[in-house]
Amino acid sequence: MKEEQIYEKIADLLADTRNTVVVTGAGISTEAGIPDFRGEKGIYRTLGEDKVLSLLNIKTFRKKPRDFYDFYRNYFMMPQVKPSRAHCLLAEMEKKGLIRAVVTQNIDNLHQEAGSKRVIAVHGNAERFVCTKFTCNTLVDADYVRNFPEIIPKCPQCESILKPDVVLFGEPIKNHRQARDIILSAQLLVVIGSSLTVYPLAGFVGEYCASRKNFIIINKGPTALDHVSTVKLETNHTGDALEQICNHL
Ligand code: NAD
Ligand code: ZN
Repeated sequence: MKEEQIYEKIADLLADTRNTVVVTGAGISTEAGIPDFRGEKGIYRTLGEDKVLSLLNIKTFRKKPRDFYDFYRNYFMMPQVKPSRAHCLLAEMEKKGLIRAVVTQNIDNLHQEAGSKRVIAVHGNAERFVCTKFTCNTLVDADYVRNFPEIIPKCPQCESILKPDVVLFGEPIKNHRQARDIILSAQLLVVIGSSLTVYPLAGFVGEYCASRKNFIIINKGPTALDHVSTVKLETNHTGDALEQICNHL
């Protein structure tokens, strides 16, 4: 299929239902300036996957909080970037009733900043930190941690250690049931910027594909479910691609 025909086909599928769910991964935020893990500049390549898995881990956070925060501050205190064109277009499409919800693996808060209202963030949100003392649970924003005078940030209420409100390796994902339910109840599923290899979200998408046929992938490079997609749009520019699709609606 030519590119033009692909845009048209995707627009037709979107126009056919009021029940489209979008699943996004790190690839939607690379144009905003946040590298993904698997790409050329990604930390799986620069540091090695094993190192990332062991440092970005709940056990390291508990047992060696200084090692954890040395690493986390260097690589995960997200640069303060703005949502990309793709984030903004998804928010507009939700407003127009073209998208029911966004389920994201990203922790960058960019869908919410762009104005998307129904965002299910399964890996949490790096803009928030939460007190680890069970009875306190105070929340602070990332700026509080950025400005904290020590490497290990402490709660302003009780001085216990703060934890990023993100899912670390060894922790269960957030909103598991809600994410699965909304994906499985969709009439059209659109995946943007994900390799579909990170579980359990990739598993929910696989389950959807087992019983539904309307499945679109917009991504640079292969994904684990290309073979069952109705349409695969290969692109490095998710914002341009969504703009073209919207022009065909
Ligand atoms: P992933 O599995 O979501 O893969 C990213 C995919 O996006 C890759 O296939 C890549 O080729 C593609 N991609 C990259 N740039 C693109 C572009 N401009 N246009 C279209 N496609 C593009 O994610 P990952 O990198 O393997 O990271 C694993 C997990 O780590 C993520 O699911 C997420 O939880 C977390 N993470 C989050 C952020 C963020 O919040 N922005 C960034 C990095 C990693
Ligand atoms: Zn506290």
